Amino acid sequence: MNRIQEIHSRLGASIATTEPMLRFDRPFELLIAVILSAQTTDELVNRVTIELFDAYPTPRALAGARIGDVERIVYSTGFYRTKAKTIIAAAAVVVERYGGRIPRTIAELLEIPGVGRKSANVIVGTLFGEPAIIVDTHFARVTRRLGLATTGSPARIEAELRRLVPESIRYSFSMLINRHGRLICRARVPRCEECVIADLCVGAGIVS
Ligand code: SF4
Repeated sequence: MNRIQEIHSRLGASIATTEPMLRFDRPFELLIAVILSAQTTDELVNRVTIELFDAYPTPRALAGARIGDVERIVYSTGFYRTKAKTIIAAAAVVVERYGGRIPRTIAELLEIPGVGRKSANVIVGTLFGEPAIIVDTHFARVTRRLGLATTGSPARIEAELRRLVPESIRYSFSMLINRHGRLICRARVPRCEECVIADLCVGAGIVS
C-alpha cells in the first residue's frame, strides 16, 4: 500500500463518518448551505437553514424572496447582506438557466453566484459521486503538514492532490482529511500524540 492509500485506510478506520456536516435534504439545499458556509461554521449554517428552507422550499421560492426577509434569517452567519443577495441570485440562476436543477459539472457550477471551486467540488462529490478534491482551510493545512501539498494556493493544492490521489478515493480522502483537521490536526495546536498517521507525517511534532 502506498502512502496515500495508507493515510486513507488509517483515517477511514479511525473516523466514524465522512458525511458532510452541512445538513440538507435536497440538492438545492446543499448548494445554498455551501454558499452560506463561507466565513462561518457549519453548525451556524445548519441552524439558519431550518428556517430558510421552511420559508423557501424551492429554488423558485427563494429566487422570488424579499431580500430583507432573507437577510433577517441568515443574519447570524455573518456578511448577511451579501449572503442574502447571493443566495437569491444563485436560486435565480438555477431556475432560469437549469430549470430548477443543480448542474452536474464544475464549470457550470462556477457560473452560479457564490460558488467557487471548493463549493463546486463539494457539490459534485456529494451529489453526483464525482472524484472531487475539496480544498477548504482544513484540507489545505493538513495536506501541507503531511508534506503532500507544497503551496498555499487552493487551486494549486487541488491540482497537486489530483495528481497524487487515485480517482476512486478522492472524495472520501477529501472528507477524511477534513475531519482529521477538525478533530486532531487542529490549526493552532495539532494533537500529534493522538494522530494515527503521525509516522507518515513530515510535520509530526514540529508544527505549531
Ligand atoms: S502528526 Fe500532527 S501535524 Fe501530522 S497529521 Fe498528525 S496531527 Fe497533523
